[in-house]
Order: sequence, then structure tokens, then C-alpha cells
Amino acid sequence: MKNYKEIKHLAEEAKKKEKEEKKFCRLCQKPETRDECSYGPKAWDRFAVPIKSVKKEDVDLSDRFELEEGAAWTRKAGQNKNGGLNEKGRKSYEKANPGSDLKAPSKKVGNPRRASFCARMRGMKDKLTSKKTARDPDSRINKSLRAWNC
Ligand SMILES: [Zn+2]
Repeated sequence: MKNYKEIKHLAEEAKKKEKEEKKFCRLCQKPETRDECSYGPKAWDRFAVPIKSVKKEDVDLSDRFELEEGAAWTRKAGQNKNGGLNEKGRKSYEKANPGSDLKAPSKKVGNPRRASFCARMRGMKDKLTSKKTARDPDSRINKSLRAWNC
């Protein structure tokens, strides 16, 4: 994971060079245009923030994902035993992320929400998760992938 200073520097460099609007993508952890986002333009719309407003908190999204404090969706209180979010966690996540609409997992193969969830989670696992966490069967991300039958 790059540190905050490095990212800020990269962001400023990119801004100088590029005329096309770039934003700092909190998923890809780099400044990029909408088309460049490896999570797709929709994810970019949701997770990219103006480069000027990049904060330290935006840089370590993956750590925050694992964090056990803060809003309920990041804490045990907001999670079910399988590592997913319970009702309280979903409410808290929706409050922190206006426009999101989380529902309980559906394990049914063919459920489009499951397919997109699995794709998103695998992406996070590939890009944002440390090797240690990715290997740990009890990590939240792996529990979550299991809960969704990914
Ligand atoms: Zn991106």
C-alpha cells in the first residue's frame, strides 16, 4: 500500500499532466479518469473523489474495511457471525453511503445482485486485501465471499 504522501504527489503529478478530468479512486487507490477505473465507471462515480479533497482516510480504504471501530457497519455490532453485515450494519452503511441499498445476501446462483457482489468482492480481495488476510479463512472478506457462495 502506498503511503499518503506518495499518493498525494502522484495525484498532483497526474493533475498537471492530464487535461481530462481525473479523480482519486479510493478503490484503485490512484488518480484516474472514469474510463480507466478497473472497477468500472459506476464504481468510479461512487468511490472517486476530487483530487484536491483526498484525505488520509481515503487512501487506506482496505485498512478501514478491516477496522473494528467507527460506524456500526465497520464494527462487530453491525456484523453477523459470518462476517457480513446485519440489519444494524446495513442501516449504518447506508447512512454513511447515501444512495446505497444493501440487502441481505442471497446465495442463489443466477441472482444478479450476487454476481455483482462476488465480482466486487473478488476485486477487493485482489487489489485491496493483504496476502495474509486473503489467505485467512476467517477474514471478513473470505467469510463474506463464502456467505455469498462466490
Ligand atoms: Zn478505480
